Amino acid sequence: MIGRKYVDAVETAGGVPLIVPHNLSGDSLRLLFDRLDGLLLSGGGDVDPSIYGEEPHPDVDGVSADRDRVELALARWAVDQQKPLLAICRGIQVLNVALGGTLVQDIPSQVAGALPHHFDEKTTPRGYLAHSVSIEPGSLLSAVIQSEAASVNSWHHQSLKQVANPLRVVAESPDGIIEAVEIPGQRFVLGVQWHPEWLFETQPEMLRLFTALIEAASA
Ligand code: MN
Repeated sequence: MIGRKYVDAVETAGGVPLIVPHNLSGDSLRLLFDRLDGLLLSGGGDVDPSIYGEEPHPDVDGVSADRDRVELALARWAVDQQKPLLAICRGIQVLNVALGGTLVQDIPSQVAGALPHHFDEKTTPRGYLAHSVSIEPGSLLSAVIQSEAASVNSWHHQSLKQVANPLRVVAESPDGIIEAVEIPGQRFVLGVQWHPEWLFETQPEMLRLFTALIEAASA
């Protein structure tokens, strides 16, 4: 089940969202991919750690073999074909693993001194601004956000560990957790660890992440 906020955000930004089923065969998936103007990888459960060569941490949750297969392929193809890509939360993790990177499987137990990056959804609003991020000057992200800092929500217990080539880290939280990556020189590849789909209605800079994707996909 894809959160309806992603659909709302893409539509508000001027795009027409199409949801890709997770049980498509490889041939159908490629035919569908070839017709897309751009790709948004959404949030969700954890990527199977065996894909990046690790035993699962006990708190790894929500693994789906079908979803991993489909999204890892879509992420690789998007990078190969220079198709505009916005990767959100699980999406930034899928993008990194697809290109050969690894993940911190559980921030609270594996990163000493980390800030809280996940909260109780029953008591904390999805738009709660949990921490700041510092954004690399001159990056695509800084151009889209129009700032070198942002306040973001945080709903992840995993994060990027070894960053795959050719990804470049362009935002971090104050505790050094990787919060955004892009591919320098590619038209539009951007991954963010936060959830702009829960922020775009109140923070114009977060809507711009989606409008930038749609503009790149329309070019
Ligand atoms: Mn965070």
